Parts: sequence; structure tokens; C-alpha cells
Amino acid sequence: MTEDDAREAVIQAARGMSASGLSFGTSGNVSARVAGGMVITPTGVPYLDLNLARITFVSADGTLRPGELKPSSEWHFHLGIYNARPDVHAIVHTHSEFATGLACTGQGIPAFHYMVAVAGGRDIRCAPYATFGTDELAAFAVDALKDRFACLLGNHGVIACADNTSAALALAWEVEHLARQYGHAKAAGQINFLSDEEMDRVLEKFKSYGQQV
Ligand code: 13P
Ligand code: ZN
Repeated sequence: MTEDDAREAVIQAARGMSASGLSFGTSGNVSARVAGGMVITPTGVPYLDLNLARITFVSADGTLRPGELKPSSEWHFHLGIYNARPDVHAIVHTHSEFATGLACTGQGIPAFHYMVAVAGGRDIRCAPYATFGTDELAAFAVDALKDRFACLLGNHGVIACADNTSAALALAWEVEHLARQYGHAKAAGQINFLSDEEMDRVLEKFKSYGQQV
């Protein structure tokens, strides 16, 4: 994939995130790993106003390319995740409604439903709150993502990571649905949580789920 292909994929995911109601206004951001660093949405630019030249490059050591727009204020956690996780190639960050509501209580999503395993583990953690755009938030995010592909950010939102931008966007949607269902389950009564053994069985089954193309 060329850098321009990655820029295009970032634009499509950012527009998809916005059009589908996963993020509002200029909240959220999207990035993709490229040779030598990452490309990421610019800070504070409405997604409909994006074009290839407005996507920004940040090198693996955090150097910006002169003449480009300012990158997303969250480039620290995007870069921190790429540097810590060679298995991640795309990141979507949202302030989606139900997941963010839950994150404002500091709670993650426990094993209330087997689909929680879609994020790669027995639960989806919530990182402690830190100010947006800081290295502190980046460190908390990397920790919360240990052995996972998604986490909540306390009083903030969601991070979803994947192999490509479409898969990261789909995972961000899964997390939003799970947060909504978890809210319904809590309101409905006492939840029958799944055991660690059952979640491990589901994680194993997920390895061969689907068409395996
Ligand atoms: P940016 O417009 O800088 O990407 O900020 C949006 C956001 O979600 C900050 O956490
Ligand atoms: Zn945010």
C-alpha cells in the first residue's frame, strides 16, 4: 500500500465514522501505519473537508512534515500504539455515545456477552482519565490495550485497532454496540457473567470463525 492509498483509506474511515454517527463534529480521529511512521487525520478539520493533501504524516520518532496541516491532537497515542504494537496497522478513535457514557464511569466492558472477545480478550478495559493529547494518555492507552485491540478511555471515548482502517472502524462499531447492550443488561437485572474458561473457549473459536479468506 502506498502512502496515498493509506491517506485515502484514512479519509474513507473518517467519513464513515462521521456519517454513521459514531463520532460527532470533529471528535475522533483515524490513522494508518505507513513506511517510516503513520498518516493521520488533521486536528479540528471536519471530515467532509478532507482530501489527500490534508492528511498529515508523523514519523515514527514524532517528527512532522513541514508544510502539512497540524496532525490530530491525539497523534501521541496513535504513535505510541504503533511503536508498542507491531501487530496494529490502523487506529480509529471515537467519542461514540454509549461507550463514552460508560467510560465516564471509569468502567470497561466485562464478559457480559461472548462478543466482548471480539476485542481480543476476556474484557475490554477502560484506561484512567488523562488530558487529551498528552503522553500520559498515550501511556494509559498502550497499557489498556495490552493483549487487546480495543479499549475505552476514561471520561473520553474509545480506541479500536486493527490490521486496516475498515476493520478498525468495524471494531469501533462492535465496541459501541457492546456498550449499549451492556447498559441494557445492567438495567434489566443481575447479569450472568461468562467465566474466564468460557471466554477463553470463545477466543479460541474466534480464530477459525468466518470464511478465513
Ligand atoms: P482532533 O481533531 O485533534 O483529532 O481531536 C479530536 C479528539 O477526539 C481529541 O481526543
Ligand atoms: Zn477524543
